[in-house]
This record gives sequence, structure tokens and C-alpha cells, in this order.
Amino acid sequence: MAYKGLQEKVAVVTGAAGGLGRATALRLSEEGVKVVAVDLDAGKAEETAASLPSEAIGIGADVSSEQGTEHYISEAISAFGKIDFHHLNAGIPGSLADLVDVPVDEWDKVMAVNLRGPFLGVRAAFRQYLQTGTTGSIVITASIAGLRGSNDLLAYTTSKHGVIGLVHGAAVYGGPLGVRVNGIAPGIVPTPIFGEAGQADMIRRAGTSPLRRPGTPEEIAGSVAFLFSEDASYITGEILSIDGGASIQNTNRNSGGAGLWNVDVTDRALLARHRVSSN
Ligand code: NAD
Repeated sequence: MAYKGLQEKVAVVTGAAGGLGRATALRLSEEGVKVVAVDLDAGKAEETAASLPSEAIGIGADVSSEQGTEHYISEAISAFGKIDFHHLNAGIPGSLADLVDVPVDEWDKVMAVNLRGPFLGVRAAFRQYLQTGTTGSIVITASIAGLRGSNDLLAYTTSKHGVIGLVHGAAVYGGPLGVRVNGIAPGIVPTPIFGEAGQADMIRRAGTSPLRRPGTPEEIAGSVAFLFSEDASYITGEILSIDGGASIQNTNRNSGGAGLWNVDVTDRALLARHRVSSN
């Protein structure tokens, strides 16, 4: 059975050229939603739109800039007259680096796309609801990295923690207006985000989660469609983990299925670099 309240609605999906955004665009389209597929890569955004079963357009825009955000909103309004759903999903990982080596320009770039982008998107969504006198729903893509720390993806991890704060604040603002704002925290889903080499590592690490496998873009897309639907009408401010249970494991208890790494091995290089003896 299809989710309730999706037919004939209009959704903006950012980062829709591939990965999770493309899968969400397809799922919403299959549910009868008209889709505005937005991506930095205009050609691929148009390809996504052309592949969808419902009415759809593809727009090239940089979500990290005010100009880019205004551009995709105004294109969506001129095509469909309103926007009901915003899936603010575009993101970049930054590179794997020790904390002491994180360059400021990379920090700024990751924050611009992953945190300023969703802020601009949420602000634009509320401004548009105000102008058109409508309500709707917003889903922002956070990450399992927004719930826990790791030692090599500092900017990404920090940006995703920030996204969760944005979801909470926007949900409190939107509640009285009838606008629900939720976040998703995907676990490991092999997509182009970490490149080919990274994908093999992702699949290996996903094997330590309770479900012992990575997720699929379609599994993420189904949850986004649910959160937009009337079946989720009493859910706002929620961060839905879609991670095979990875975030609820006790990483200090081997019998919990986690902690399967050897800290002597994982820490050796770091301790050597800081000239700290492990004995
Ligand atoms: P992806 O690289 O396939 O998709 C990200 C898309 O965002 C790309 O198409 C890219 O062109 C677009 N993009 C990047 N910068 C942009 C900008 N400035 N303006 C507009 N578009 C831009 O990766 P994905 O795995 O589908 O990631 C989608 C979201 O899911 C990201 O926010 C990511 O952090 C998050 N996420 C992914 C995973 C995973 O395991 N794949 C896990 C947790 C969270």
C-alpha cells in the first residue's frame, strides 16, 4: 500500500544526481509526487528528472550559496506553483585526516555544503510557505556521524551534529505553523560519496552492525517518503536512524557485536605520530 498524502504533492530533492537523493526522487515519483531534482551537476540532475515516472524537472544549483538556493526555489515555483516537501540531502564528506591535519579551507567547504546548505534550504522553505500561504514538510539528511564521534572525519562529523541541531530548532519553529521537520541518520550505504576504494571499506565496516550488512539507497528513500507522508503526521523533530542498528550498539562490549577492531592496530600510527609510547 502507498503512503498517505503524497499524491500530487511537489518535492524538492537536493543532491539528486545520484546516491540517496536519486533514490528518494524515484521513490517519491513512484508515489505520485512531482519532483524538482537539484544538484551541482546540472546534467545529472536533468538525467534523474528525465528518468522519473512523474512530472519532474532537473535544476543545476549550488545549495551552499544563497543565490543557488533562491535559484532552485524560484525554478520549482515557476514549474509547479508551490513546494510541499523539501529533502535537503546534498552533502560532501571531506577527506579522511587526523584532527591536527584538517585544513581550514576544507573545514569551511564541508560546513558550507553540509550545514549552511540545509540552513539556507530550511530558511527558504519557511519563507516560501509564508509567501504561498501553504504548509509542508522538511527532511534533512544527517548521518550516523551526527550521533557519534570518529577520529578522522572531523568536519563531516561536526557538520552532521549541526544538522541535528537545525532539525530540532526548525521543528520547534515549524510545529505551530503545521510544518514538520525531521532528520534521517543513514548508516553505511555504498554510494559514490566515498569513492570506489571507500566503498569496499564501507561494506566491510557495515558487517559489524547488528544487521551485518550495508543499507541500500532504496531503504533510505522509503524512510524519507514515510516521513513526508501523513502516516508520519505526529512525527516532528525526530532523527530517524536507518543504519542496521549500528548506532545503538555498545561499542565497548564485544558480545554486542561491535568493537571488533583491535585498538593496538588502530592507534599505533596515531601514537607514533604524537611520539606517545603505547607501553
Ligand atoms: P553522493 O555523493 O552520491 O550524493 C551527494 C550529491 O550531492 C552529489 O550528487 C553531489 O553532486 C551533490 N552535491 C555536492 N555538493 C553540492 C552542492 N554544493 N550543491 C548541490 N549539490 C551538491 O552521496 P550520498 O551517499 O547519496 O549522500 C547523500 C547525503 O547522505 C549526504 O548528505 C551524505 O552526507 C549523507 N549520508 C550518506 C551516507 C552513505 O553511507 N552514503 C551515510 C550517511 C549520510
